[in-house]
Amino acid sequence: MSAVLPLGASLYDRVRRVIPPIEWPTFLDDIEAILALKRERNAVILAHNYQTPEIFHCVADIVGDSLALARQAMSTEADVIVLAGVHFMAETAKLLNPQKTVLIPDLRAGCSLADSITAEDVRLMRQRIPNVPIVTYVNTSAAVKAESDICCTSGNARAVVESLGVPRVIMLPDEYLAKNVAAETDVEILAWKGHCEVHERFAAADVRELRQAHPGLVVLAHPECPPEVVAEADFSGSTAAMSDYVERQKPPRVVLLTECSMSDNVAVKHPEVEFIRPCNLCPHMKRITLANIRAALEENRHVVTIEPEIAQRARLAVERMLAV
Ligand code: SF4
Repeated sequence: MSAVLPLGASLYDRVRRVIPPIEWPTFLDDIEAILALKRERNAVILAHNYQTPEIFHCVADIVGDSLALARQAMSTEADVIVLAGVHFMAETAKLLNPQKTVLIPDLRAGCSLADSITAEDVRLMRQRIPNVPIVTYVNTSAAVKAESDICCTSGNARAVVESLGVPRVIMLPDEYLAKNVAAETDVEILAWKGHCEVHERFAAADVRELRQAHPGLVVLAHPECPPEVVAEADFSGSTAAMSDYVERQKPPRVVLLTECSMSDNVAVKHPEVEFIRPCNLCPHMKRITLANIRAALEENRHVVTIEPEIAQRARLAVERMLAV
């Protein structure tokens, strides 16, 4: 560790449980450059819970799940927002901050859920099933949000559905989230057939095998997992809810059935908890690196833009959610 500078040494304390000492010097140059660029450009970095620890703990200003990032994006005073996450999150930040520059470090950072549905699909669905409100998960493009009545996240989906005061809603595009919410409410929910390519790979048999191999294991599952996985889990909730659960309950041994970096980021704060880590990587989230965050700030790329007419309608759907 003798090569680590004083700044690096204090930052390294934050991640020493999840980043080996031999890897740390490879991050330092980019981290120091990013910290300087943020000051120069009056920029903030918003990082999703699925970002790698060197981004999440060392350069991000605001971290959290989609809901937290959307809320925090509204209150920032910065001129520039760099979204360390996927494209729909950067669009949401832009919707809520039309005057600010919003950058996404890699345009290929997409999402299988967002790709599962188009604005045209939503228009057709509204024609076929009229007078039923359309609740759209934030993991969608601005064009799809613009066709919706209200947005939701995995953290507030049930509250949003019940806030509408109707017997039946359409919930797009995640079939499993829709079914998991349907199991908790009396509101009838019509689902689309989109899936998250990370969470759909978990199976109920995995949970049973994990419990056998690790006695006393507490299983937390994200609501984008199939309903039979959620049924086998001890708790299901958004990434923020999972993090709060670990904070509150401090289970001696836990598994988070979600994206891999989530366990790393939570484990940093909980040395007393043993994290069992069968996880699935999100290839879209992993497009974001320190190197392309640095390039985004240096070269002002890639600027997120949304057609004003679409932005106006999509913003309404997001703002209705934030008001719930
Ligand atoms: S984890 Fe799933 S929902 Fe999240 S960005 Fe990746 S593919 Fe999309």
